[in-house]
Amino acid sequence: MTQHVKLARDRRRRKSRIKALIFFCAIVCIVAGGILSLKDTVEHKPEKMPEETVYQTLQNEPENNKDGETAAGKEDIDATSYDDELSDKDDEVDEIKINPNDFDLSEPLPAEAQSAIDGLLDAVDQAKRITDQFNHSVVRGDTLKDVLELSGLEDDTSKKLIASYPELKNLKPGQQLYWILDNENDLEYMNWLVSEKEERVYERKEDGKFVRQIIEKKSIWKKEVLRGSVSTSFRASLRSQGLDGRQINQLITALQWQFSMNKLKKGDDFAILISREYLENKLTGQGNVEAIHIKSQGKSYYAIQAENGRYYSRQGETLGKGFSRYPIQRQARVSSPFNPKRRHPVTKRIRPHKGVDFALPTGTPVIAPADAIVEKVAYQAGGAGRYIILRHGREYQTVYMHLSRPLVRAGQSVKRGERIALSGNTGISTGAHLHYEFHINGRPVNPLTVKLPGGNSGMQDSERRVFLARAKSVERQLKF
Ligand SMILES: [Zn+2]
Repeated sequence: MTQHVKLARDRRRRKSRIKALIFFCAIVCIVAGGILSLKDTVEHKPEKMPEETVYQTLQNEPENNKDGETAAGKEDIDATSYDDELSDKDDEVDEIKINPNDFDLSEPLPAEAQSAIDGLLDAVDQAKRITDQFNHSVVRGDTLKDVLELSGLEDDTSKKLIASYPELKNLKPGQQLYWILDNENDLEYMNWLVSEKEERVYERKEDGKFVRQIIEKKSIWKKEVLRGSVSTSFRASLRSQGLDGRQINQLITALQWQFSMNKLKKGDDFAILISREYLENKLTGQGNVEAIHIKSQGKSYYAIQAENGRYYSRQGETLGKGFSRYPIQRQARVSSPFNPKRRHPVTKRIRPHKGVDFALPTGTPVIAPADAIVEKVAYQAGGAGRYIILRHGREYQTVYMHLSRPLVRAGQSVKRGERIALSGNTGISTGAHLHYEFHINGRPVNPLTVKLPGGNSGMQDSERRVFLARAKSVERQLKF
């Protein structure tokens, strides 16, 4: 909105000669818009843009002008693209297939027929879960907005819920949330495991309002140690131990930064400390995973939950090294913000902007914001240009578009801070910029405001002492 205000003000200041030119261009734009809206694919011709958008000139260094890939970008249109929605068709592609839950940071193991079938079933199962069902173990500092954002929900949903049910402002570490989205990606149902004695369910009714149900639980909770060894896959082994999908995801999320599931070999041992709910002696499957110990090739790996809800190694080190906010080393101006309701300036159609654009001279190094595996390096001439997709553990992916040169190959592991590409102006773009997307569970969220994983995970001294004592006792319980 402020853009439009600014545009209007700037336009008034222009001289009549330019006004006449704008008028002429507006007609050109309307005619062009009419034609283009029939086609739906819009290519920006720089010569019709300067009057359409008037901003300060890009503060780009002269090397921007050396950019030979497209002539756009040196005019006073701000650097962005209205065509950076990835299409299914790549003009060039180098990619590896990663199963989000079994992602690996090394070469995949040779698969036997049985495990291939198992993996396939897992993939179907996971694809279904990832599209509509979500769960999260609350960690300190989490708000309802942070939690629901894990499924790509905007904060209006959490605001609406909290307005009706202010208790949702007080999430506590270790509590579990489970929620489902409908086909329109709106929240349909949310289950909040408040304590072992109480559960609250929020269900959306026809009129869009949420109704709450409080369930007092008469069940008995037991802390149990489950032991097993890896059979066909880690997931299958956990499932045969009676863990449900939610608990399996919780475990894999806890381990995602430390340990790669595919490194596990048949026969590797694991032990899990879990609280389980029994109702009239029947296992209901709910509960929190408190710790896991995996022994693989003579090495022990632990993930132990602290009071704050996060998982740490035995030494109290955080398992995630975390994310940096920006995938670049220097400050850069945002030339177009994240905006799911962005409109195309010519056609006025909604063209969601699923990422954030940084105005950067071509050739600026782009760095990995966290440890990752390169999932895809590809090229789409009609939109994203050269682009890269990185996967960070089970839940996170980042996407980089309009690059001039990738510096990595698909399948390669990269460390936080490592250069992955040089920024550019490829594909359809109005100027040199980096388009950066941040996805959680396959859904784009605002990279500049999303709660970054691994942030604020440090423990206070007193808290750390409690944790280390707890870790010792967990270690004893989970010994092989
Ligand atoms: Zn963009």
